[in-house]
Amino acid sequence: MEKKSIENQLSVKGLFDSHAHYFDSRWEGQAEDLLENGLFGKGLGGIVNVATDPENALRCIEQAKRHEGMYAAVGIHPTDCKALRGSVDDEVSRIRYLLDTEEKRRENKIVALGEIGLDYHWEPIEEELQKQYFHAQMALAEELSLPVIIHDREAHGDCFETVLRYPKVRGVFHSFSGSAEMARELCRRGWYISFSGVVTFKNGRRAREAAMVVPMDRILAETDAPYLAPEPFRGRMNHSGLMNYTVSALSEIKGVSYEDMVRITAENARRLFGLA
Ligand SMILES: [Zn+2]
Repeated sequence: MEKKSIENQLSVKGLFDSHAHYFDSRWEGQAEDLLENGLFGKGLGGIVNVATDPENALRCIEQAKRHEGMYAAVGIHPTDCKALRGSVDDEVSRIRYLLDTEEKRRENKIVALGEIGLDYHWEPIEEELQKQYFHAQMALAEELSLPVIIHDREAHGDCFETVLRYPKVRGVFHSFSGSAEMARELCRRGWYISFSGVVTFKNGRRAREAAMVVPMDRILAETDAPYLAPEPFRGRMNHSGLMNYTVSALSEIKGVSYEDMVRITAENARRLFGLA
């Protein structure tokens, strides 16, 4: 990891990072110091640490417990499901075990089920298996009245269709890459839309167009750290201290001040994750 990439010149005060992976092995042990001194120590508002399989869910929770202001989301990611050995039922029940009572959720600092969804980018796609995991976890979210964090990569039609089949479930589409039309439809149905560093990319026009139509009370910001660093850090290790570039881009798109965008995205995240 390049040391330079975890420096930050701008303020992180009040920012709420709705989606990051600080337990990822790519941090090589550097995440704890960054979180405590570089981020929370400088006034960062909050982070949702998002697990991608039943194994890293445990590390994700342990890390959230170490940092005030950090919360956990646990679930099985569409590209992680094919590496799992057990049946869909068995693997999803490992997730269920972590969050099926209010007491456990409080203890484990769990605020959402995720990330779950569909990803048709990487070969082999294993579409059927992905769908089985997605459905099983949407059903679990419905049963427990939990918000979900959706990963939708090149699977917009199927993701949209699936969430419509669970009309009681709400949540957020993270690092949104769908059309403005899809964003509008999701928001109309009570969903939130989260934007990552992609809105700062030269080729991020589609994400910017979607951000334009998302109502102010439905918009979230995220890093997806350690991935998707915003410009001018594209390609480097990403972290919540770089999120101000993303929030600054969003504030320009929405025509509000940077400070208002920080406050609004944080308020929206707290409302969605029940932290208000
Ligand atoms: Zn992610």
